[in-house]
Amino acid sequence: MSLKIYNTLSKKKEDFVPLEPGKVKMYVCGPTVYNLIHIGNARPMIVFDTARRYMEHKGYEVNYVSNFTDVDDKIIKKAIEEGVDSEVISTRYIEECKKDMAAMNVKPATTHPLATQEIDGMLEMIQTLIDKGHAYTAADGTVYFRTRSFKEYGKLSHKNLDDLRGGNRSLLVSGEDQKEDMLDFVLWKPKKEGEPYWDSCWCQGRPGWHIECSVMSKKYLGDEIDIHAGGEDLVFPHHENEIAQSEAANGKTFAKYWMHNAFLNIDNRKMSKSAGNFFTVRDISEKYDLQVLRFFMLSAHYRSQLNFSDQLMEAAKSGYERIVTSVDNLNFLLANSKTEELTEGENALLTEAEGFVSRFDEAMDDDFNTADALSVIFELVKFANTNANEGSSIAFLKALKEEIVMLSDICGLIVEKQAEILDSDIEALIAERQEARKSKNFARADEIRDELLKKGIVLEDTREGVKWKRA
Ligand code: AMP
Ligand code: ZN
Repeated sequence: MSLKIYNTLSKKKEDFVPLEPGKVKMYVCGPTVYNLIHIGNARPMIVFDTARRYMEHKGYEVNYVSNFTDVDDKIIKKAIEEGVDSEVISTRYIEECKKDMAAMNVKPATTHPLATQEIDGMLEMIQTLIDKGHAYTAADGTVYFRTRSFKEYGKLSHKNLDDLRGGNRSLLVSGEDQKEDMLDFVLWKPKKEGEPYWDSCWCQGRPGWHIECSVMSKKYLGDEIDIHAGGEDLVFPHHENEIAQSEAANGKTFAKYWMHNAFLNIDNRKMSKSAGNFFTVRDISEKYDLQVLRFFMLSAHYRSQLNFSDQLMEAAKSGYERIVTSVDNLNFLLANSKTEELTEGENALLTEAEGFVSRFDEAMDDDFNTADALSVIFELVKFANTNANEGSSIAFLKALKEEIVMLSDICGLIVEKQAEILDSDIEALIAERQEARKSKNFARADEIRDELLKKGIVLEDTREGVKWKRA
């Protein structure tokens, strides 16, 4: 079966056919960095990282770009509150966000561009839009996109321009005075006192929010990309405006597939900073291994709303632990197994176990149905628990373990605990290091220090001798 992706543009599941065989160009709108990320922000990170991992597992080379919005009203507000430059705020929270991503086993993007580093590209695209008649400058130097000049405006959010203009004011793109039309949106705006700004031929100012993604996507992936993704709140106006900017400027279809994750809710309301009903990833990490959070996110399909609750987190914890325990058990059996070779019976069982891999793939091919994919891992775990025992061969145990670890890894779940290094082993290595130093074998001494560091053991040479601690 081939991969099918639900495309917001067509409102249908479509066969995934990349623009270039074997390659995927994917852009995921990233967070605005003015605070620690909350677990609602973590949902797109986890689900699209899982989509990426699955496509890599299928053999695609995925070029994955995800931005950090590092110039924005909220960042500026926080910088003013703290009496620092907004760069101090954005740099701090980009670092913190990267730590959270690593802790959730979200792979770093191929490129993580920053809006403030891409201003030249934005000036260029805005100029192209003006030259082509898709944008205009107001008296104060604000540049607006002329929304009605892009005939397909509304195609992603399935909104009709006249509906936007007429009855439903809540759908209107936020309005300011000097627009030709209520629907027009800002590409460039004049600076205000105390705000970061850049020179341009229209005014000293800064970009509107939407232009950064059009520009970064073009620069790092090209005019046409395979997948553009983000949370469903971005469909309108952000992604609709990105399409208008990119397609009007480049004259090409911007993205083939548009993917949107549904909200993570709490008490059935969207978790958000502004509503104040959020938990940061850091909050959760105090109570749970973040692998549990990852498991929780994947336990629902990404297009279904997911309600955060202690109960569901506890269920995720026991689900995740069930896999870890099974792998632990296989490792224990492996360490004690007396036979190398597969028996005929085991061979037949392994053929049966391959069926779990095909069923896992089938679930993931169906628009990344991680909920079903996790159920298949559970069935495999049950199969392993039933069929592996003290009499099993090393080959059999290894094959079962590798299958569980591989499927879990596609979901970004780390299910094999690193063997913990014992205090006595550390002491022995430290003694060996001291000997090596005495005999001036500094290379070996350094090697031992690095080896320990990899295992999270930090050495400190003090006057009283060598001290160590677990990092
Ligand atoms: P923001 O920093 O608000 O621009 O959000 C960064 C990403 O997180 C976007 O893709 C949002 O759609 C997504 N997001 C924010 N809140 C939630 C939520 N409660 N559930 C799911 N996704 C969210
Ligand atoms: Zn974006």
